[in-house]
Amino acid sequence: MKINKAEFYKSVYKYEDCPRLQQPEVAFSGRSNVGKSSLINRMTKQKKLARTSNTPGRTQCLNYFNVDDKFYLVDLPGYGFANVPQKVKDDWAELIDTYLNYRENLVGVVQIIDSRHKPTKDDKLMVNWLQASGLNFLIVATKVDKISNNKRAKQKKLIYQELNLTKDDNFTFFSSQNGEGSKEVYKYLEFLVKS
Ligand code: GDP
Repeated sequence: MKINKAEFYKSVYKYEDCPRLQQPEVAFSGRSNVGKSSLINRMTKQKKLARTSNTPGRTQCLNYFNVDDKFYLVDLPGYGFANVPQKVKDDWAELIDTYLNYRENLVGVVQIIDSRHKPTKDDKLMVNWLQASGLNFLIVATKVDKISNNKRAKQKKLIYQELNLTKDDNFTFFSSQNGEGSKEVYKYLEFLVKS
């Protein structure tokens, strides 16, 4: 898949406000600061499409981006902020939970984790949930430019173990800095949007 044009479409604060659309949607999920905005910007070749300023405690929303009128990229609010008021956490959980459970347009999820670290408790919850849901998903382990080549295999093994992944699951390393893994993500988007 080649992306020619991607533009912001709308922010959704309540599930009921999700737009009526024909096109499929692909959700991008990950904890705050994992590099989700950088990945979206890299994939859409725009410097500032997704903003990298998810302030903790701020009202959480889904951000819809129209990609070539072919599909919508839905940027889910980052999770895992420390010191977030319980009310914000609850609102976040409800919005995500409803969206992932009920949204008929949703064809798959790009789940982003940090390749340098052991997946967090929230990463595990998220991936367990994806596994149980039957939704199609791709694990993207980003910031791989920050680990040495000989550490990759070890990190991949750790991620597979911690997230209970099997060889049938979709996984790629990624770097927003040098574009490694872009091909795999484009390929996955193409597969989702065509199927
Ligand atoms: P978000 O909160 O998940 O949207 O994360 P951001 O995209 O804002 O990234 C958080 C920080 O990690 C920023 O300082 C980015 O420059 C940095 N970052 C994101 N992706 C990469 C990557 O692939 N490699 C490196 N070296 N840094 C990255």
